[in-house]
Amino acid sequence: MLCEILETRTGADKSDRRLQNVRKENSADSLPRDCSSTKGLRENRLWLKARPCAIPSFFTRASEFLNNLDLENLQVVPLLKYHLTPWNSHGLKFLNPFKTFDKANMAPIVYQQLFADHRDLYHNFIPVFTDGSRSSSSTSFACVFINSTLSFQLHSSCSIFTAEITAILHALYQISNSPPDNYIIYSDSFSALESMTSLHRFSHTLTFNILELHDRLECRGFSVLLCWVPSHVGISGNEHADNLAKSATDSINCPVPLSDIKKYVKIKLHSNWQSQWNLKEANKLHSIKHLITCWPSLPNRKLDTVLTRLRIGHTRFTHRHLLLGETAPLCTACQCQMTVLHILIECRQLNNQRIRCFHSSCITLRDILHKDHHPQLFTFLRMIGFYSLI
Ligand SMILES: [Zn+2]
Repeated sequence: MLCEILETRTGADKSDRRLQNVRKENSADSLPRDCSSTKGLRENRLWLKARPCAIPSFFTRASEFLNNLDLENLQVVPLLKYHLTPWNSHGLKFLNPFKTFDKANMAPIVYQQLFADHRDLYHNFIPVFTDGSRSSSSTSFACVFINSTLSFQLHSSCSIFTAEITAILHALYQISNSPPDNYIIYSDSFSALESMTSLHRFSHTLTFNILELHDRLECRGFSVLLCWVPSHVGISGNEHADNLAKSATDSINCPVPLSDIKKYVKIKLHSNWQSQWNLKEANKLHSIKHLITCWPSLPNRKLDTVLTRLRIGHTRFTHRHLLLGETAPLCTACQCQMTVLHILIECRQLNNQRIRCFHSSCITLRDILHKDHHPQLFTFLRMIGFYSLI
């Protein structure tokens, strides 16, 4: 069917040898391959200057992107050489006086009373409350001591987990400047406390700093306990730490764990990529795929190639004239240029086939080429004779 409409396609049956010759000729005009030497880089820059529409090399794009992230003054947490021995368990246990109570079914006053009972029991331990906070723009932490407080903003790449761990670490730093005594550090981050109960080589880097500092304090005669408290149930010290962390304005240049930086760069990179993609409204794929996510491949290589070519709007039939220097193929029925959009959606000569396969003549490219594609897509392509020309 399509072959009848596409009678005017030019050069479609000519030998592929001609196409290969054109490719060889074009390759002489391609990007200089040696970009490793100074001469190569200079040639690369000149080449890009002469062709503003050309896409810069990966290295150039990566450099520009990383410069915009302002990571120059960022320090990475160094790996602490804490000796983990396989015959000993390493970690810090924490108290949980609320273990048998379910937060969802308990009134805040019950927790406040439980905490008051707990404080009676540990009245000879000086309380220190810590908390971390993360919003869309900043990450911060706070420590509340009996007579003083501290709160700082961390680099925005820090996770909430890092903020909670950093708060405990800074509480220990402050304790280490005081005379030996009994202390108890309260945190509402169960995951942070639990991560310190059993350390292994994949544990968060700062947990080793906490363990190492805690060991040193114990040797100096300190007794430092950790305890979990539920958040937002009216425990005054925890509420105070929570408010301080949220309102922190001073920045502290703390080293950031490498895992946080990697995650931060990935999120920024994806966001940057999505922003660029949002502007590409003229791109054929953009009308089908708005979000940059990974779409599954088809198990059959040939079908996957056909589907991909349709999605990007570039097929052998609609675009080979560019390589062969011929005129673009025209639809004789509609007197317009042949495009994937025209063949699949617009051409009125193919309405009957559309109705048979898609049960409608009014469809969009997104309807049939979306993530999982329309189940009758390949039947339609074969029915109109387009499949073998893609
Ligand atoms: Zn047409």
